[in-house]
Amino acid sequence: MEFVHGRDNAVADALSRLPLAGEVSLSEAERSGIAADNHLLHLRVNDLPVTKKVLKKKVTEDKTLQFVMRCIRDGWPPKRSLTDEFWAYFEKREELSYEEDVLFWHGRIIVPQSLQQDVLADLHEGHPGEGAMKSIAKLQVWWPQIDHAIELYVKRCKSCQKARPTGSQESPIFFWNVPSEVWSRVHVDFAGPFEGKHWLIVVDATSKWLEVIPMVSTTAAKTIEVLRDIFTRLGLPKTLVSDNGPQFTSHEFSSFCADNNVKHITSSPYHPRTNGLAERAVRTFKDRMKAARNDRGSLQLKLQKFLISYRNSTHATTGRSPAQALLGRNLRTRLDLMRPDIPTNIELAQRRQSAPKGNRRVREFAVGDEVWVKTFRDKEPMEGKVVEKRGLLSYLVEINGKQERRHVDQLRKKALDFEGEICSRKPRTPVLGSPAELMVPCHKQ
Ligand SMILES: [Zn+2]
Repeated sequence: MEFVHGRDNAVADALSRLPLAGEVSLSEAERSGIAADNHLLHLRVNDLPVTKKVLKKKVTEDKTLQFVMRCIRDGWPPKRSLTDEFWAYFEKREELSYEEDVLFWHGRIIVPQSLQQDVLADLHEGHPGEGAMKSIAKLQVWWPQIDHAIELYVKRCKSCQKARPTGSQESPIFFWNVPSEVWSRVHVDFAGPFEGKHWLIVVDATSKWLEVIPMVSTTAAKTIEVLRDIFTRLGLPKTLVSDNGPQFTSHEFSSFCADNNVKHITSSPYHPRTNGLAERAVRTFKDRMKAARNDRGSLQLKLQKFLISYRNSTHATTGRSPAQALLGRNLRTRLDLMRPDIPTNIELAQRRQSAPKGNRRVREFAVGDEVWVKTFRDKEPMEGKVVEKRGLLSYLVEINGKQERRHVDQLRKKALDFEGEICSRKPRTPVLGSPAELMVPCHKQ
């Protein structure tokens, strides 16, 4: 079971607030209460992440995008006959496509103007900077001059401006070779006390993957407990770099490392910035949390928003996002809600693989065919009738007066080839059966 905040569950929330049928007498106080509720509902709907359904609706209402879609379908008129709002689309005309009423440029969703502010707000969740926002936008969304819109958005975010003093130059950090293998050298450090807590910062030198854990206590035992949990998920690194904090120089900590065959390096007095990677991560973390100070939600939520944004943003030194580098994929975010269900290349390849080869043809049914329908559970097949072909492998079938969508593998033509299937699923119980008899497929008996 999953708890969904009313804000993120507007459908159920709105239904719970639907007016009752018929006359209901209300006191004045109750009336004003309802008015306040309606206002709340309005606010909540405005706060929704942009979903596929909303996107499709807004695209349908957007005159510019409708015109672009018509041009993709029917061909483009000469450029000189177009007003300048279409030029950016015209330049990209060879690379535009649409699918399920959503327009794309190079796999990026083209966002209608009415949704651009919402999408910018989503991109800025966790207060990433310009570069990070652009890197996420590059994978997800586009509209003419989106980069400029992102720059303006960050400039206008007061929280960001306050939290990020400009022009602070870093002293050069100790030079490390970056290991080619991800999660092989990991840097740890403590930040804080900050927002009333200590924070354990763990960062991978190669992928720049970041873990931030709020800590009430920073003893060696607690630090080990938390690190062990992270290492359970991501594996043991070869090397662990830390400063000379008491928990790291303790006997307990060095035996934890030794027992797990992890080489522990502490910063030396000659190279005080050996752990510069973690120190920089601490600074990024603090700046972003400061920027989020006036946002709604718990500290934990703000931390999570920062982490998902950070992990999905292209890192300047690696050219990839930490998620891509460590996990080989980006993390699914709210922006993905807008995407139509277009199968990925992997899914397509899998479908091709499972497609029948040679003379094994896909069974086909015509509308009106009487069929046996396998139910999901291990029950007797049911009688049904094909109502509509929905795709190569999918049919709408009427079963007991109800229409249901079924995969071709669940259907058999009546009186034809289903008997064998029924038998092989429910072999006759042999009364005096010998083992040899049991092996005979029953439809050959
Ligand atoms: Zn901000």
